[in-house]
Amino acid sequence: MKHLIVSLHDYHPGSHAAIKEQIETLNIWGVKNVSILVVPHYHHQKATKDSASSLAYLGERQAANDDLVVHGYYHDRVGQGSGSFFWTKLYTANEAEFLDLSDGEVRHRLTRALTLWEEQGWKPEGFIAPAWLMPEEQDVILKRMNFTYTTRLKYFQNLRNLQKTETQSLCYSTRAKWRRDVSLRWNKWLFARLLKTKDVIRLSLHPNDLKFEPIKLQIQDIVETALTEGYQPLTYAAYAKQ
Ligand SMILES: [Zn+2]
Repeated sequence: MKHLIVSLHDYHPGSHAAIKEQIETLNIWGVKNVSILVVPHYHHQKATKDSASSLAYLGERQAANDDLVVHGYYHDRVGQGSGSFFWTKLYTANEAEFLDLSDGEVRHRLTRALTLWEEQGWKPEGFIAPAWLMPEEQDVILKRMNFTYTTRLKYFQNLRNLQKTETQSLCYSTRAKWRRDVSLRWNKWLFARLLKTKDVIRLSLHPNDLKFEPIKLQIQDIVETALTEGYQPLTYAAYAKQ
């Protein structure tokens, strides 16, 4: 069986409209269920729990079998120092929240995040660190807190049976024109390689990705080609149960 897993990164009240539109577009392209990466308190702005419309929408998506993934807590590095220049400034725009937190702080932020899931009656299955950056040694904390999976750029990690599925995610960087151009060339090459070599294709989208026409066209082509080639769409949570 071949699988296509689409994940939508960075859901919070400020990205609600963009992600709702992505979900509707993906639906038209044939992807009915996705993993939505929810940030409890994105960049210390309006918290997800304080937005009635966000809570209602996420509740609907959970009821429709989407997978609501815990995606960091703040998704920024306020109060954490600059860290390594490459990871905090070049690779991300100061978003690598879980890059270098202590074990105690990881547990603390995850516990606070899970309060939201509990209060809303959502089922927490996975945790994915902002920009996938968290030391592998801390996966044991996720396992102890009953998360069933995590992912990084290059693999999916089942935390129950400890099986690792190596398959690099397709992912776009859109915050400058040169990054968009490089992303288009890179993802074209990577997708062709994945089709030849992998049973699982992962597509990770950020809220603005479909706003750039050439990127939107490429993503549509990736989704439609994958479906034509027999990849079945499903969420990470469903894949973890396979
Ligand atoms: Zn993110």
